[in-house]
Amino acid sequence: MNRMKLVFDAKLENEAFARASGIAFLMPLNPTVDEVMEIKTILAEAIVNCMIHGYQGREDGQISVQMEYDETHRVQITVSDQGTGIEDIELARQPLYTTRADLERSGMGMTIMESFSDQFEVQSQPGQGTTVRMIKQLQFHE
Ligand code: ATP
Ligand code: MG
Repeated sequence: MNRMKLVFDAKLENEAFARASGIAFLMPLNPTVDEVMEIKTILAEAIVNCMIHGYQGREDGQISVQMEYDETHRVQITVSDQGTGIEDIELARQPLYTTRADLERSGMGMTIMESFSDQFEVQSQPGQGTTVRMIKQLQFHE
């Protein structure tokens, strides 16, 4: 088992930092190009959601990214904010559902996170924040 936790301000420039750090943490597993691309996308979608929905663009909130993997190369990724939270999680998870059509959001982020992971869970309380957790099984490579 190997674990890490990153906590950072909800500033747009930190999305690239957190995405790159998350990938760097997984380098000992020697992931494929496809696995790296999918995990980068998962991280980007989850972190941007915290920024634009959870904190609605306010930069004083904090986002946490936790990752862990075990000897079977099962990777768990948890991304949390303490922002607005989600009223109806089932609705939020529907493809094309967005509350920010004004920002030209397409409502596909959660659908993409789900499709690139083996398990995808959302926990949220209005006024308290949101946590998304993904499990992704990586393959073994030399
Ligand atoms: P896209 O991801 O395609 O740019 P989107 O962010 O609106 O668009 P999803 O990522 O699927 O689409 O999220 C769907 C909806 O769930 C959002 O519009 C928002 O209402 C809600 N949501 C998602 N993440 C959060 C969060 N961290 N805090 C509060 N609400 C969220
Ligand atoms: Mg999104």
